[in-house]
Amino acid sequence: MTTVHEPTPVRADLSVWPASAADSPDTGLAVGGVPLAEVADRFGTPVYVLDEAEVRDRCRTYRAAFPDTEILYAAKAFLCRAMIHWVDEEGLGLDVCSAGELEFAVTAGFPPDRIVLHGNAKSPQDLATALRLGVGRVVIDSPSEIARLAAAVGPDGHQKVMVRVVPGVSAGGHDKIRTGTDDQKFGLSIADGYAAHAIARILDQPQLELTGLHCHLGSQITSVKPYLVAVRRLVGLMSRLHEQHGLVLPELDLGGGHGIAYRPGEPALDLTALAGRVRAELATACAAADLPVPRLLIEPGRAIAGPAGVALYRVLSVKRTGDHVFVAVDGGMSDNPRPALYGVRYAPRLIGRPGGAAPAPVTVVGRHCEAGDVLAADVPLPADVHPGDLIALPVAGAYHLSMASGYNLVGRPPVVAVHDGTARLLVRRESLADVRNRDVGL
Ligand SMILES: *Cc1c(COP(=O)(O)O)cnc(C)c1O
Repeated sequence: MTTVHEPTPVRADLSVWPASAADSPDTGLAVGGVPLAEVADRFGTPVYVLDEAEVRDRCRTYRAAFPDTEILYAAKAFLCRAMIHWVDEEGLGLDVCSAGELEFAVTAGFPPDRIVLHGNAKSPQDLATALRLGVGRVVIDSPSEIARLAAAVGPDGHQKVMVRVVPGVSAGGHDKIRTGTDDQKFGLSIADGYAAHAIARILDQPQLELTGLHCHLGSQITSVKPYLVAVRRLVGLMSRLHEQHGLVLPELDLGGGHGIAYRPGEPALDLTALAGRVRAELATACAAADLPVPRLLIEPGRAIAGPAGVALYRVLSVKRTGDHVFVAVDGGMSDNPRPALYGVRYAPRLIGRPGGAAPAPVTVVGRHCEAGDVLAADVPLPADVHPGDLIALPVAGAYHLSMASGYNLVGRPPVVAVHDGTARLLVRRESLADVRNRDVGL
């Protein structure tokens, strides 16, 4: 029992952390039952920590919220062999955008018929790999792809395809991640007739079986509304296709983009609301158009991997200038280009020791040779933060490692899975030997 005179400990806000995150005075913050300081000591920093149970729980949450829907994990958010196995075991499909992602998944044992290949510019190798491995569906994204794919399939072959259409919906957390409007590179516009024209050409190719329309509005969408508008417009196009060609499409892919919170208090997309309202909207629109309700597909990426990952860094230097305190860590834009690319904000935490001093605003920067190498500007950290301290960045599971670069030859960080109190290495750190191996000329 605590006495009334003892100060109430300030309970840290762990709302954007994996559900397993727990703070203890003895070991500090732990994820998956493993103290993060222990992970940093054992595997070095920077390092990515991935909570296996959080990934699996998120897959299960999707399956429960969308019972009759095919849920495809967007591989580009984060991929490694363990992730491929977890997604497979949890009954999800996969959406990939290159021969590399596709072949990696299939050679790791993922069933190719549960994989969808999309992409605005597929190389001959992408298409050849898709056909060789027997990918489930190819999403056509440009008119020229139709003849190329039909020729590659051959007159006796058969390939299921979808068509990526642009519904003319503006949604998403930043201009660079909005893909539902007519002024960007993805998809075929409904408004200007390109989509309908491409579909007519696909129907002329007997070896291509059109199973449905596909769209992806963008990323970090936190409201249900854009998806409902998209459903109405897609069913509108399906209705016109039915009138013109007698076509009844059995599938409808609404893409991903489900928004998550990166900092406490930020909104996230409500999956239960999304599921219920999309289902209702689809039923109403299809009834009005006298069409059977197509089977739904969705493609969450970040919402599955993002909140399951934590990036750990060690502080290398603390510099106090006129207006700022710069806390420089041993990673940065080479392992997380997102703040520089689209101004993403994070809520880093000091871990591994009790934060003694009161918080003061600091800017957490990386170690790279760019002034824009900022991980988190103006965030509160204990004022006595010093070299050797550990900094943890939550919500680091998606679009960190998959977007990492070799800049400054720092080496891409390893990935460590934590589960039930044990940590295991999934992806080792990139070494100078890896760099030398690729450098074959003089
Ligand atoms: C990137 C992408 C996704 C996943 O987006 P998230 O924001 O990670 O959910 C899904 N579908 C397509 C076609 C994509 O390009």
